[in-house]
Amino acid sequence: MMKVAIDGPAGAGKSTIARAAASRLGYVYIDTGAMYRAVALFAVRRGISTKNDVAGVIGVLPEISITIRHVDGVQRIFLGGEDVSEAIRMPEISVAASEVAVIPEVRQKLVQLQRQLSETADVIMDGRDIGTYVLPDAEVKIFLTADVTVRAERRYKELCEKGTETTLDEVLRDMQYRDANDSGRAFAPLRQAEDAVAVDTTLLTAEESIDHVIAVIRGACNVV
Ligand code: C5P
Repeated sequence: MMKVAIDGPAGAGKSTIARAAASRLGYVYIDTGAMYRAVALFAVRRGISTKNDVAGVIGVLPEISITIRHVDGVQRIFLGGEDVSEAIRMPEISVAASEVAVIPEVRQKLVQLQRQLSETADVIMDGRDIGTYVLPDAEVKIFLTADVTVRAERRYKELCEKGTETTLDEVLRDMQYRDANDSGRAFAPLRQAEDAVAVDTTLLTAEESIDHVIAVIRGACNVV
C-alpha cells in the first residue's frame, strides 16, 4: 500500500490539494483533522470545556465512536451513527479541536484509527503529525506552508462562501491560536519531517499547488 503524508498549518491548502491529488491518482483521501474536530464536537455538546477540563475530555473518550466512510470519493465522518461532516466545520469547533489535540490520550485513540485506515488502501492522509508520527514510513511526505495572512484570507473566504458569520480578524486570531497550540504541544507537535518536501503555497493558485504536489508524488512513487 502507498502512503502519502501531507502536513502543515491550517489554511495552507492541505485538504484542497490532498482531495484533488487523491482523486486524480486514484488514492483514498483521509482527513485526520476531521477526527480531532469530531472529538471536540462531542465534548462541546456535552458542555465540557476543551480548554480547561482535560480530565473531562479523557473521561468521555470511551464513549466516542468515530467512523469514516467514503461516498463518491468524498470522506464523511460519523460520530456514533450521526453524519457530522458539516457540523465539525464551525469556527468554534476548529478552536476546540486544537485544544483536545494537545491531549495525548486523544491523539493515541485517533492515531490508532488513522494507522488502521492506511492499511486498507493507497492513501493520501493530511494532518499535522502524519509524516513525523502517524506514518513515519510514508513513501512521500509533503510539508505545506503559506504566509499566515494569506492562510487566514483563504479560510475567511471559504467560511463566507458557506454563509458562516465571522470577520477576517477573528479568523486570523483563531488561526494564530491554533498554530501556537499545534506547534507548541509536547506530544507529536506540528513540524516538518526531515525527509519531507516543503511546498510554500503563498504565491500559488489552488490549481498550481495541486499540479506541483501531484508532480512530487509522481516523481517519488513512479506512478503515472
Ligand atoms: O486540519 P484541521 O484544521 O481540520 O484540524 C483541526 C485541528 O485538529 C488542528 O488545528 C489541530 O489542532 C488538530 N490536528 C492535529 N493533528 C492532526 C490533524 C489535526 O493535531 N493530524
